[in-house]
Amino acid sequence: MNLNIADTFNRELPADPDRTNEPRQVKDACFSFVKPSVPGQPKLVHYSKEMVEAIGLTEADATSEEFLKIFSGAKVLEGTDPYAMCYGGHQFGHWAGQLGDGRAINLGEVVHAGNRWALQLKGAGTTPYSRTADGLAVLRSSIREHLCSEAMHHLGVPTTRSVSLALSGDEVLRDVMYNGNAAYEKGAIVCRAAPSFIRFGNFEIFARRGDVDSLRKLTDYTIRHFFPEIEQGTKAGYIAFFKEVARRTLDMIIHWQRVGFVHGVMNTDNLSILGLTIDFGPYGWLEGYDDNWTPNTTDRSHRRYRFGNQPHIGLWNLAQLGSALVPLIEEVKPLQAVLEAYKAAYQLRYLSMMRQKLGLQTDRETDDALVGQLVATLQLTETDMTIFFRNLSEISQETSVNEGTAFLAPVLDAFYEPDALTGETLAAWQSWFNAYVERLGHETATAEERRASMHSVNPKYVLRNYMAQLAIDKADAGDYTLINDLHQLLKRPYDEQPEAQEWFARRPEWARNRVGCSMLSCSS
Ligand code: AMP
Ligand code: MG
Repeated sequence: MNLNIADTFNRELPADPDRTNEPRQVKDACFSFVKPSVPGQPKLVHYSKEMVEAIGLTEADATSEEFLKIFSGAKVLEGTDPYAMCYGGHQFGHWAGQLGDGRAINLGEVVHAGNRWALQLKGAGTTPYSRTADGLAVLRSSIREHLCSEAMHHLGVPTTRSVSLALSGDEVLRDVMYNGNAAYEKGAIVCRAAPSFIRFGNFEIFARRGDVDSLRKLTDYTIRHFFPEIEQGTKAGYIAFFKEVARRTLDMIIHWQRVGFVHGVMNTDNLSILGLTIDFGPYGWLEGYDDNWTPNTTDRSHRRYRFGNQPHIGLWNLAQLGSALVPLIEEVKPLQAVLEAYKAAYQLRYLSMMRQKLGLQTDRETDDALVGQLVATLQLTETDMTIFFRNLSEISQETSVNEGTAFLAPVLDAFYEPDALTGETLAAWQSWFNAYVERLGHETATAEERRASMHSVNPKYVLRNYMAQLAIDKADAGDYTLINDLHQLLKRPYDEQPEAQEWFARRPEWARNRVGCSMLSCSS
């Protein structure tokens, strides 16, 4: 198997001199060398053809014994020296000290077709950062990560990718809802890929420890390889770097808000310095539009990471990263200016994203109010976000908003409780649609043009929470076909796929309160 290995992280940055694999505090180093554990009986479940090719392999490679060995951790590829990264993080608003890759092991970096990919196994055994945990991952969370990272990419959301999903053949003990009901589950290993897996927390750990030397080395490395347009080694460069990270973070979160994705655990150790969606844990997709919704039961009481709070948390996390960079910049004002700019940019970018969802190509002062009114009205009764926005393109300036519900016909499928469309709720919809239809009158695009542009930002197919769970249930029984079917479906989320109409439907009632569908925990 011919991979073009071109390691930089483990060659250019300070390494932990200790090569033993014992939990410990790792000082003055960006990573520790560690070998993946050898799985009991690995079996390939699925691979992403696109990613296999992106890293320079063929489908013939992907079905080889060698591929399974390397991508399950059974064998270390010649010319590589695998390692786990050292990072810290703020978890749920509190500094948590050293975290690090507790169950992720970087195999190495490959360069193919001009692109750099770090390849990382998740669930391949303990590392010096595993603390008291087992370093493993279960099949259910691995299916969720594998499917969702690829789906996000095809939605146009910046994200880490997934190359392959394998069963380890080992059993893993998990207490899914943290309620004393631990049980054995199938272990699995995902190989994920990104230009780099560096997180905000990689910078924070050095700042917290007062290790400015390592902080500078890591920042210079990051700029050199991933922000080549930025000046290296100067204060102005570090400020420009922070500004660009803020821009990318906001860009990513605006995309999340556009498609209805809730990350679930936006701790600073789960925010990529490249602005990529990373660490698919208890994430979820909005079904009924609800700013307060979070799929993560661990966060149920405070809802810190609820849908509507994601842009604010992005800012909060950037403030932590900014603090970590102070030793390099020795001033706080320019960092504060970046945070202020984020707030202003958020307002503009959110509005422009919502205009696109509404099919508005011109700007009018009343648009802000129109969007605000829509968001409020969507939450009066349970209204499916994906179906509503997708079908909204059937409304035109000729639509007449009369008494009764006839005008709602194009979007009626989005309502979980159509019988509740009476009284004040109906009046609120009449009012909003009146304003919207009137607003469409100011647009010059034809209905056809508007439909095409709306369909390019309002996906028809997303990985609804219950869809992933159905794939998991089948896979648990040894049937992996749905993993592949969903993987294929979600490669074209904006296309009409009439044969897949069953996935363009409201969440079935059985999934409303089912663990894995609406309720997830960090257990994975
Ligand atoms: P997460 O909330 O999943 O992002 O994980 C937070 C920290 O816990 C990271 O340092 C992970 O590497 C670590 N971690 C999570 N699960 C495990 C596990 N099963 N074994 C070892 N470390 C883990
Ligand atoms: Mg994490």
